[in-house]
Amino acid sequence: MSLIIRIQCNNMNEEKLRPGVETLKSGGTVVFPTETVYGLGADATSDDACMKIFNAKGRPVDNPLIVHFSDISDLDKYTYWSHVAKRKELERLWPGPLTVIVKKKDLICDTASAGLPTVGVRIPDCNFSRELIRRCGSPVAAPSANVSGRPSATSIDHILEELGHRVDIMYSAESPRYGIESTVILPEGNKCTILRPGAYTEEDLLKIFDSVGYARVGEKVMSPGMKYRHYSPEKILFRASPDRILQEIAGKNDLLPIVSTELGEKINGKKLVLGSVKDPISISSNLYKCLRELDRSSHRGGIIEAFPEVGYFVSVMNRVKKASIELE
Ligand code: AMP
Ligand code: MG
Repeated sequence: MSLIIRIQCNNMNEEKLRPGVETLKSGGTVVFPTETVYGLGADATSDDACMKIFNAKGRPVDNPLIVHFSDISDLDKYTYWSHVAKRKELERLWPGPLTVIVKKKDLICDTASAGLPTVGVRIPDCNFSRELIRRCGSPVAAPSANVSGRPSATSIDHILEELGHRVDIMYSAESPRYGIESTVILPEGNKCTILRPGAYTEEDLLKIFDSVGYARVGEKVMSPGMKYRHYSPEKILFRASPDRILQEIAGKNDLLPIVSTELGEKINGKKLVLGSVKDPISISSNLYKCLRELDRSSHRGGIIEAFPEVGYFVSVMNRVKKASIELE
């Protein structure tokens, strides 16, 4: 079983940092909190260490890992960051839920980048985790801390269930603020392609780039992760509009509704409440927890509310769509 250490992101504690630093330096694996979801980290310069991440998650080896840095000033040592035209503007979004694809240097191991000449880089917004990375002396490769294909983990209980015996150390902290993974972008001069939508939206990126587009599966510029099944509960999950949900569940209780506070007020029976539509971050922060609760429930399956795809809800719905089937 892994060693679990309870921390707070804003509380630097020497004694608590030490075992994590030693584990990373000696090629082990450490679960750490970020503002998006929990990460499962290992030294990004070591093939052996990164291989442990793939093994623990059962992750396909052609799906590259995001590499986490503590400081912008380290990027040039490991990547061709200085070649990114809009780097100054992008740097202002860090620490934050943004991953940028950039050409890598040899120090980043090929296992981390899945053999690609590029690497996804990010500076997470948790002071404790950044200090852990800083003291490790190398950047830390870390995908989400879940078994491949399952919803990302937003609490240490989820990780214990799935990865308890496959990780050396787990840092447990307050729940991640966003609860869905970072925005992944590929910048090319004044253009940018969103490979995975997240908390930074198309509107945010249009303040930096002249044009912003989305990559679609099958297109040349593709994030390898896009071809894999993601974020799915084990039970069947349908998605539908609020009215369609009310119609579907009337007089029946085989599907567990996963809905906003507003729609929940119209449902008397058992339901899982995500949060208010007026506060999209509350909805994303509870999404994966609800998908896991669905699996633990006695219901045959679930039915989740489809939100209008504008602003941050584009990112929320990206995950909802991957986890569900549209109800005809
Ligand atoms: P996760 O496993 O949740 O951390 O997801 C990482 C995502 O970033 C996956 O969808 C990867 O395919 C994507 N990614 C990481 N590195 C690269 C890269 N070099 N090029 C394109 N996509 C990447
Ligand atoms: Mg993941």
